[in-house]
This record gives sequence, structure tokens and C-alpha cells, in this order.
Amino acid sequence: MWRASTRTKRAHAVETALRLFAERGYDQVSVSDIIEATGTSKGTFYHYFHSKQELLSELPLRQLAIVEAWTQRAFAQGASPAGRVNSLLLELAKALGDSPRLVRSLYSMSGQEPLLGKAQQQLAAALIDCLAHWLEDRRKAVYLHDIYSGTLWSWAAGAHPDLEEALRSNLYWAWRGINNETQSGHDNQESPDSTGMALEEEPVMEVAVIGGGLAGLTAAAYLSQSPGVRGVVFERSPQWGGRAFTYEKSGFTLNYGAHAIYGIDRHTIAKLEKELDLNFSSKQVDKRKVMYEKGEKVTPAPLDFVNLVKTDVLSAGQKVRFVAEISAMIANIHQLRKYPTLGDYLAETSQDEDLKELWEHLVCSNFFISPEDARRVPGHVISDYYHNLFLSQKPVNYILGSWAVITNQLKAKIESSGRWETAVQEGVDGIRYENGKYLLTTKNREQAFDRVVFAMPSQQVVKLLKGTPWEPFMADYEANTATEVLVYDVGLSHVVNRPFSYISDMNNKMFITDVSATDHTLVPEGGQLLQGVAYLSDESFGGDTDRRAYLDERQAQMEALFDRHYPGWRDAVTVKRMSKKAMVQSVKNVAGNRLLPNRMESVPFYFCGDGCAGKGELAERAFSSARIAAKMLLEQVELALAK
Ligand SMILES: Cc1cc2nc3c(=O)[nH]c(=O)nc-3n(C[C@H](O)[C@H](O)[C@H](O)COP(=O)(O)OP(=O)(O)OC[C@H]3O[C@@H](n4cnc5c(N)ncnc54)[C@H](O)[C@@H]3O)c2cc1C
Repeated sequence: MWRASTRTKRAHAVETALRLFAERGYDQVSVSDIIEATGTSKGTFYHYFHSKQELLSELPLRQLAIVEAWTQRAFAQGASPAGRVNSLLLELAKALGDSPRLVRSLYSMSGQEPLLGKAQQQLAAALIDCLAHWLEDRRKAVYLHDIYSGTLWSWAAGAHPDLEEALRSNLYWAWRGINNETQSGHDNQESPDSTGMALEEEPVMEVAVIGGGLAGLTAAAYLSQSPGVRGVVFERSPQWGGRAFTYEKSGFTLNYGAHAIYGIDRHTIAKLEKELDLNFSSKQVDKRKVMYEKGEKVTPAPLDFVNLVKTDVLSAGQKVRFVAEISAMIANIHQLRKYPTLGDYLAETSQDEDLKELWEHLVCSNFFISPEDARRVPGHVISDYYHNLFLSQKPVNYILGSWAVITNQLKAKIESSGRWETAVQEGVDGIRYENGKYLLTTKNREQAFDRVVFAMPSQQVVKLLKGTPWEPFMADYEANTATEVLVYDVGLSHVVNRPFSYISDMNNKMFITDVSATDHTLVPEGGQLLQGVAYLSDESFGGDTDRRAYLDERQAQMEALFDRHYPGWRDAVTVKRMSKKAMVQSVKNVAGNRLLPNRMESVPFYFCGDGCAGKGELAERAFSSARIAAKMLLEQVELALAK
């Protein structure tokens, strides 16, 4: 299905069309075939594309993007330009993948279809300009461009089975010609393959990213923008996205974790959107439909001034005090900042109990934690968080179509660079240092890398580094506790209409979100997707039996919340997914826990993920820490390659 819920529509159509062109040939694929294969309508297709040729023109446009990235790159002073010319041309060849038929179609249609012809000309001009700038000689640039396109053409026509090998060989001879080294007789009869010819290439840094969740994909997407970096993203599970993994069941799109973005206008995802060229839409949760249940009463959550006036959670006097509290947060002068934890602040403040309860409840909902844990969150963490959120014009938004819209684009970006491999179902089992490189072992290979980025929960980093020379540096992070919740997702065959789309049970610390009220793309026609989340206490219980009894009790309370507010839901259930131990954040941001830094003295690796240092909480921490780690690494690449 061509649903926003699984991919961005345009990107999905391009991928599908290119696959069909590669399989059958451009001529043999009609617009109707593409529409059918993508499961959309003619109207939607023509909303995105004017014609079939526009889809094929994506191929030269992607090549153009590679040339532009190389054009902007800085190189080591005094380095020979031949290396970078070869590296760029080889990268362009690799990025074309392994479909000679597609390239054949492109070449043959370029003469007939003006749009394709124009895209090809644009690519050729940019490539020649780039080579001419490096070589300071336009004739050589044109010659090398012709070598590249000639090789492509003969490979597409079936003259060579292996494009990279053919290009290496042709470039080798081209450079010998350029350098006036060609001698008659003996040299010309030599087979370039058998001489062990060495083609000069730009040095690159080999990087491994371990973990294909939001953090790993984000870090690799940033790194893939640099022509100086080549790498592999390893993901041990069969799918991408980690805890943001999304799957389809009976027409419902279920997220393993939810996809709410808090304060999207001030969120790191806004930076990613610009810097990584992401394309997604989001929709704001209707604040008037966010309710709190306290005792028997259901009342608006005091999220903004209108709701604050209406809510019964606070009395008139408390409302005035709460407005003052919010203003102090916005101005960054709230006293809470100075206290080690929320608990310390609440113990000393003169506020009455309802206001204290409201603060505690807000922290529970934004950090997904129990009241006991809420009191352990450091004062400055809460102040920073609400300073940002209260200033936001868009407190809660959903990415339309779920996390998959983001993860699919990140993955496509990484792969389209031509320099990165995405290795799924290939967990990294070991790491060691040898001859200046880090050797990673998986079930399929042992590969050497110059740099390694860990993009996984800190508990798993600690485990992987056990028995290595870096184990002692991980000791501080070993005892970290994670934020875990009970999740109860139900897909209903019809909508149980309620005047709210979010109901939070203040007494039992759990909530239900009508996800489909904001993101309609996640349900089949007429369906409804409700997500219940119960915060869990991780206080020590007597043993496993007690813990199980506690979880059973939370489940019963959750079902009772559904019964109270969604009458008849049990008869409408089409899909159900329950997890009694879903990890929302790998390191709970409470006193006693320590976030893993992005870099550590004496440890040569980079760290990112929602348990690492970064801005925000939950997924924002995964995105922001990945962005920080990638930028740190890119600075190192610049330095190392400039030497
Ligand atoms: C129920 C629930 C609700 C949530 N709701 C929200 C929300 O509304 N808003 C929000 O912002 N966030 C939310 N989150 C949090 C968000 O999903 C996470 O913060 C984010 O997905 C974490 O991403 P990550 O990349 O840091 O970690 P992960 O997703 O855990 O990714 C790490 C990856 O590393 C892989 N890996 C581990 N070890 C190895 C190895 N040795 N080799 C190779 N691969 C390895 C794992 O398989 C995994 O895929 C929610 C989470 C849950 C569970």
C-alpha cells in the first residue's frame, strides 16, 4: 500500500519505479504499472510526478548530489588530484548499483525525453566542472568524464560484467595516457588485471556504527554526507528502527514505541529535517482534548491558559500561582533549578499539595516515570525541559505515518551515498584493537575500521566491551537503570467516540492516547488506535512472583481505565499488543544514574543513543546525541585527512 504510514509517498514511488525499470526495462513499464505496484491512485501519482521520465531522472539527479558533495569537500594540501578524481568516479559507479538495464534505459531515453536529457547534461556539466577545477585542465576533465561515461555505456550494453573492475582498468590506462607514460609494444599488451595495477585514490576513513535504531541511523546519515567517510551500520535484529520499529497488522500501523514529539519547533528533529534534507509532516495534538482524570472527575489538563482557566485540578488561587511558576520556568529563574531533585524542591516549597501533585504528575507524563522516580529527577533537568516546552508553540505533535517515515528516509540517505553498507541481522559480537585499527566480529565477517560509533543502550555497550581493555572505563555506567513502562495498544474496528483524545489517570499514573485522532494514517477506514501506557515503579519487590503480581495489577488497572472511558472497546478489538516491560529510555534521567558521554577520555569510541549525553529526553536524546557524535567524528576526519 502507498500509505504515508510506511514511507514517504514520493520516495516509495521512486524506489518502486526504479526497481520495475531495472527488472523489465523502462519501455515495458507503464504509469499504470507503477500506480498498481505502489497501491495508489492516478490522482495521487500525478500529484507527485508529471510523467514517467521524471522518475527515471532521479538516477542522474542522485549522481549529481554525489558530485555536489565532493565539490564542497576540502582536501589535504598538496595531495594529488588524481586520487580524488578516481575516488569520485568509482563512487558514482558504485552508487548506480548493479542494474545495467536501468543505465541502458537512461542512456537510450536521454536522447528522446527532454527532461532526462536535461538531467544528464546537468550531471555531465557539473562533473566536468568539478574535475576541471581539481585538475586545472578542462581537456583532461572532459577526457576523464568520457572515460567514465564510456565505461558505463559499455557495461550497460553488456561488454563488461563488473562495472567497478572495468572502470578501474579504464582509469588506469587513461592516467597512463595523461601522464605520457604509455609505451608501445610491451605495455600495451599487458593485461591491467594481471599487473596488479594500483589506482591512486583519495584516503577514506572506515567507520562502523553499531546499532540501527534512531541514533545509529541518524549518526550514519550525517556521516554518509562526507565523501571522506565510508562505513557499515550493523543491526543485530531483522529490522531497522530499534525501539522505534514500526509494523503493520490487519491494516493498523503499530509502533514498538510511540512517535510523539514534544515541542517540535524547538526539537532536534527540526535541525535534522534541514541538515539531512528529511521530508515529513506532523500534526499537533488538540490541547482541548487532553484531559486528566482525578478521582471521579474528568477535567482539562492545564496545558495552556484556556485549559488552565477551565481545569478543576487547581483552585483559582492555585491557578494564579501556577501561572507564576510557568513564567519563572520560561524566564529560566525558577528556584527548582537550584535543587538537587524535584523531591528536595517539593519538600521545601510552601506550595500546597495540589500544586505539588501537578508538578509531580507533569514530570511523570513527560519522563514516563513513576511518582517515586519523578521526585528523583534533578532540578536543573526539569527546569531545562520545561523552559523549552513552555516556550514551544507546538507542545505535542505526531509524525504523520509513524517513525518509519523518518527511519526509511535515513536509511535511503545512507544507502544512496554509495559509500555505506547497511547490514541487518548482523550483530557485532566482539571488538579488539590491532595494527592501528578496530576489528569488529560478526557471524559473517571480521572487518577493520578506523573509528567506531556505539549507538545502542549503554547497558549493551557495557556488555560488548566486557573483557576488552576498555571495560574498566564502563564501570560507572553498569548500574544505570532504564525507564520501563507497560504498553497496551489496541486497534479497534470502529471508533468509540469520546470528547478527549488523551486521558491521564492521575491517581494510578497511567494514560490512554487516541493516537489515530491525531494521526489518521495509522488505521484502516473507520478504525481507531488507542495506546495505553502505565508508568512502572522499579522499587525492589520481594521476588519475581511479587513483581509479576505488581505487573498483573497494573494491567488490570489499565483495562479498567479502558472500561471507564472507552465503553464497548473489548468487543471492537481487532489487534492488540501488550508489553509489560517496554524500555522507553535506556537510562532513566534520575539522581544516581549517569548518561554516557559522547566521547570519553581514554576510550577511543563515540557514543550515542537515548542513554547518552544530548538535548531533550526520549527519542530527542537519541537524535541529538547522534548528531553531536557524528559532528565530533567528522571534525576528526577533516583533521586526519588533511594531514
Ligand atoms: C512504549 C514506548 C513509547 C515511546 N514513546 C515515545 C514518544 O512518544 N516520543 C519519543 O520521543 N520517544 C518515545 N519513546 C522512546 C524512543 O522510542 C527511544 O528513545 C528511541 O527509539 C531510542 O533509540 P536508540 O537508537 O537510542 O536506541 P534503540 O532503539 O534501542 O536502538 C539500538 C539498536 O542497537 C541494536 N543493537 C544492540 N546491540 C547490538 C550489537 N551488538 N550489534 C548490532 N546491533 C546492536 C539493537 O537491536 C537496536 O536496534 C518510546 C519508547 C517506547 C518503548
